[in-house]
Amino acid sequence: MKIISINAGSSSLKFSLFDMSTEEVLISGVFERIGIENGVYTLKYKGEKIKVEQDLDSHLTAVKILLEKLIELQVISNLEEIEGVGHRLVHGGDKYSESVMITDEVVDDIIKFSDFAPLHNPANALCIKAFKEVLPKTPMVGVFDTAFHQTMEKERFLYPVPYSWYEDYHIRKYGAHGTSHRFIAETLKEELGDKLNIISCHLGNGGSITAIRDGKCVDTSMGFTPHAGIIMGTRSGDIDVSIVPYIMEKEGKSAGEIMDDLNKKSGFLGISGVSSDSRDIEDGIKNGNERCALAQDMYVNSIVKYIAQYYVLLGHVDVIAFTAGIGENSPETRAKVIEKLACLGIKIDLEANNVRGKFTKISTKDSKVAVYVVPTNEELMIARDTLNIINNR
Ligand code: AMP
Repeated sequence: MKIISINAGSSSLKFSLFDMSTEEVLISGVFERIGIENGVYTLKYKGEKIKVEQDLDSHLTAVKILLEKLIELQVISNLEEIEGVGHRLVHGGDKYSESVMITDEVVDDIIKFSDFAPLHNPANALCIKAFKEVLPKTPMVGVFDTAFHQTMEKERFLYPVPYSWYEDYHIRKYGAHGTSHRFIAETLKEELGDKLNIISCHLGNGGSITAIRDGKCVDTSMGFTPHAGIIMGTRSGDIDVSIVPYIMEKEGKSAGEIMDDLNKKSGFLGISGVSSDSRDIEDGIKNGNERCALAQDMYVNSIVKYIAQYYVLLGHVDVIAFTAGIGENSPETRAKVIEKLACLGIKIDLEANNVRGKFTKISTKDSKVAVYVVPTNEELMIARDTLNIINNR
């Protein structure tokens, strides 16, 4: 059975086509600069990269080209071979706690929740409509990035603000990266067994840390939006909110402009003044750049703060997992984080830690908590959910 996994942004569309009998990726790719000039798409097929520069006036155009290419490259012989489309959906508000078959009501809700994810939810809805037009009979499944976090209890997801904000405007913690954290929990369950208490560290350009008890989210570092929590590539993570009106007044900026600074000019980029990319930060440190070293230290501290908090929350932790771009590929960051957890009896095996992108135990035998690198695969999680929901209709 072939299932296509879709991740649409406001001007991009990423896809992976899976053969679900083996969970192998048959072809994957990304369409970029949709709706703006100089469109381009890149396909990865049979070890080769195909790059085509072509204007893409809408998500519908991208979807049409994508399906034409699948036939032209003989990945499929007809469109009926695609038996399901799984869409990554960014925000399901407090309504969706699991993946669902996409109906008109789901599309309406995605548009309704656009206030919470103004860049992503409208694009998600557009992309669903595009696929519906081109593959009208193919079942589509929505996999919400917020769904995994819906098991948080009220005392964890509420903010200590006037209660009417929650009642009237749904102000609460929603979290993000749920599909990735669930993939980590399921992989560790498969590999190590049931009933695990896990601290899952998704460290990418965006980053979040989640406390998981027996496969369910107990708490997570992102909040009302993906701005909260640990320091990220260009996002500040947690800060004192009073800074916002203070800088508004000092620099004569609007709230929107300050939010832009906090979203796009902060984090690694803001502190280092060099780059949002952790590889550049690591190079900067090697070259003696003090601001890069400062950015890295602050980053590590922000991660350790959440791990320590969730260690106490869970009471007992079986696994700390590192995933996503930095978590999977930066032995330096992992070592610095674990070294700061020595007071909890957590110890890193530096030789085992010298690994990138591979499921590996990186703690010593006598470490009080096992530490693993667990490569995430959100596309596969989406395809698996799509298959399950289609099979259980
Ligand atoms: P993601 O958002 O998961 O794609 O992760 C992007 C982040 O991962 C960027 O900060 C990259 O610098 C980082 N990253 C990717 N590969 C490496 C690597 N080999 N070493 C260190 N950081 C990496």
